[in-house]
Amino acid sequence: MKTVIFNWKMNPSSLDEVNKIIAVIEAESVAVGRSELVILPPSIYINLLQQKQSNIFASLGVQDISDSENGAYTGQLSAEMVSNLGLEYALIGHSETRKYQHYTTQDIANKLTQALKYNLTPILCVGYEENPKANEINIDLIKQELSDIIIPNRELLAKNQILIAYEPIWAIGSGITPSLDSIETVSILIKKTFQDIIPAELESTANILYGGSVNRGNISELKTITSVSGFLIGGASLDTNQIPSLLS
Ligand code: PEP
Repeated sequence: MKTVIFNWKMNPSSLDEVNKIIAVIEAESVAVGRSELVILPPSIYINLLQQKQSNIFASLGVQDISDSENGAYTGQLSAEMVSNLGLEYALIGHSETRKYQHYTTQDIANKLTQALKYNLTPILCVGYEENPKANEINIDLIKQELSDIIIPNRELLAKNQILIAYEPIWAIGSGITPSLDSIETVSILIKKTFQDIIPAELESTANILYGGSVNRGNISELKTITSVSGFLIGGASLDTNQIPSLLS
């Protein structure tokens, strides 16, 4: 079963629209049983989604967490409060947060520490470049990023699961996806890099996701990539016409 993660970003703009999306997911509850659904809504909608959670069979998470424990950090969410609220996932290092909040690799490593400390399953995005060339895959950068972020968190990762999302920045929201072959190659490489960094006795599991322009037209063939455990989906996850295909 593949994991399907809906990243709603800063959408939709009203409770009415959230309710419409929930109604479609609810109507697809049989299909939802065929994929594992995780929704990352804007945090203002979490309460509503928690009330509907048993109807939509979804796990919930947040789109970012603070790299600090608590205190005077206006606008931020701590991993501890997210966990205490019963949420299970935290997206970390999404390219939009790296671009607009200027997070560094060190910030992202610290966010991962917080997520693991409070038992949230991290969804770590890799593949961010400031000036990417379309269709180019910078494997060295991904390897470097992984070691800078994972090595300081090695002990906390013991017996834990992490989801690592390969998201080439040029594929996000562009309608362009890498070839199936290159997604497979990069996902295998990410898994291998993780295994090289984390000793087997720590029993950590990394599952690899792909994100970038996944939609109802390409999800079936993307699902054939066995090294990919699921998908991080932005735009299409807000489209009530596409949701049934994304979940089936
Ligand atoms: C994303 O932002 O994580 C993403 C994958 O977006 P989209 O599906 O819209 O390309």
